[in-house]
Formats: sequence, structure tokens, C-alpha cells
Amino acid sequence: MAAFEGLASRLQNVFSKLRGKGKLTEDDVNEALREVRLALLEADVNFKVVKEFIAKVKERAIGQEVLQSFTPAMVVVDIVNKELTELMGGSQSKLARANKPPTVIMMAGLQGAGKTTSTGKLAKMLLQQNHRPLVAAADIYRPAAIKQLQVIGEQLKVPVFSLGDQVSPVEIAKQALQHAKDHNNDYLIIDTAGRLHIDENLMEELKQIVEAVTPHEILLVVDAMTGQDAVNVAENFHKQLPLTGVVLTKLDGDTRGGAAISVKAVTGCPIKFAATGEKMDALEPFHPERMASRILG
Ligand code: GDP
Repeated sequence: MAAFEGLASRLQNVFSKLRGKGKLTEDDVNEALREVRLALLEADVNFKVVKEFIAKVKERAIGQEVLQSFTPAMVVVDIVNKELTELMGGSQSKLARANKPPTVIMMAGLQGAGKTTSTGKLAKMLLQQNHRPLVAAADIYRPAAIKQLQVIGEQLKVPVFSLGDQVSPVEIAKQALQHAKDHNNDYLIIDTAGRLHIDENLMEELKQIVEAVTPHEILLVVDAMTGQDAVNVAENFHKQLPLTGVVLTKLDGDTRGGAAISVKAVTGCPIKFAATGEKMDALEPFHPERMASRILG
């Protein structure tokens, strides 16, 4: 993943130096952790998150277990790996499933974050798992959003529920839910509107949709390319909506992947999916442990 290349190569450097030393002193470990700290900050990981992370790693890495080990560098890497996994959410956070279908998934986020694209990708993923998703076009403000979803629907052979752009998003969501029930769709994904900035009208509308259809999942789509802003956006949305997870998009971009590492720690909201491209198959469930291993090489 392009977003982690810089961080990965820096951390791998730090650890290969450490491995070259054989037995380690407390100073060696401190020096390595200082470099890890800088690498994380440079990757745009939230300052507070880095501070707590390093403190936790240090507490474990300075112990006798490490310093007296025959392979101390490996023990340090292992500790960093475990803490990094924990930081990103521990284990994979799976998509909820309604006891009584359809499972309703609402997609929220700022305009341009990748909501419509991710709605299509998610529908495709569900289709491949033999589900029968219905997607609903409730973004009536962005001129091309409905058309965009219809094009995606045709391409994927997924039905798209639309009432045009003259009916309120709340009404669209309600009718889409009824449509899903009537047509045996076991998943309903609602693509909602975003604005360029968080505003009250947007939040109010999203809250009304939540009230009208009580989604099982409210996924916030955030653009990883926006760095710390992505984390701030997530924090803001989370204050107002009962988010159940985050879809982190554009991790293929030439950016710093700090958002992916900070968002769970700052908001408490697990990353459920990572998107790495514009194509419909560029979405994968987010696995903290695999991501940590990728970063540490
Ligand atoms: P929305 O306004 O939130 O619905 O955003 P869109 O789904 O229309 O996406 C905005 C732009 O970002 C489009 O050009 C998408 O093709 C692009 N996009 C979405 N997800 C990704 C991703 O994971 N990687 C890249 N490179 N581009 C993406």
C-alpha cells in the first residue's frame, strides 16, 4: 500500500540496525524507539497517539525479558508489532449482520471522500459472497451522484433504488428499505449526501435517516489522503452520529498513512474497510494484524 511505504522502509531500517547489534542495552532500545517515534510522526500519526504508543512499547521493551533475550531485537519488533496491531483495532472488525434481513448499511462522509465508489465496492463484495444487495441513491445534492451510482449498478448488476433528486433523502431511505424487504434483498446500502465541510443541515439530515431506518452499520467514509483532517472529520462525525465503523479510502495515494493508524485510537471507531483504488474491486476488509505486519516488513 503506497500510503505506508515511507513508514515501512523507515521502521525496517531502524529494526535492521537493531538486529545488527546482537545484545542490546537500555540505551540501544531507547535510541531505536526514538527513531520509531520520529517515523510515526513523520507518517502523520496523531501526536498524542504516538506518545502513548511509545510509552507502552517502552514499558515492555526495557524489561529484563528483552535485554536478556538471545534475540533481543526480535523481541522488540514483536512488541512493536503487537502494540501497532492493538492501536489499529486489535482484531478485524466485521460487518454487522441483521438477525432479520435486510442488514441496513448507511454510508456517510464528506463530498469526494469516496462514498459512492465505496457503496459500489461494498455491493460488489457482498455480491461475491452470494448476497443480494440493493443500493439506494440518497445523495440528491451532488449533481452526478445518482447517475454515478446507476452506472456502477449496471456494471455490477446490482439493483439501484432511486426516486430522483426531488424527493427527500429520508423518504428515499424509507422507501428503499421497503423495496429491499419486498424484493428479498438481504443488504441495503444507502449512499447519502456529503458536503465539502461538516455542516448542521447535513448532520440533521443524516440523523433523520438514522431515525427512519435504524441502520445496523453507519460507516464513515474518510479520505486517507487528507491526513490529520481525516481523523478530525471522523472525530466530528462520531460526536454526532452513532458510527459503527470507518472506510478508509485512497490508501493507494502517495500520502502518509498516519490516518489509518490514528483513527481508531482517536475516535474509538474501528476501521472496517480499506480502499486502494478507483476500481470496483479495490476494497478489502481491514485487518489490523496484517497491516501491522506489512508496515513492519
Ligand atoms: P463521494 O462524493 O464521497 O461519493 O465520492 P466519490 O465516490 O464520487 O469519489 C470521489 C473520487 O475519488 C472519485 O474520482 C473516485 O474515483 C475517487 N476514489 C474513491 N475511492 C478511491 C480510492 O480508494 N483510491 C483512489 N485513488 N481514488 C478513489
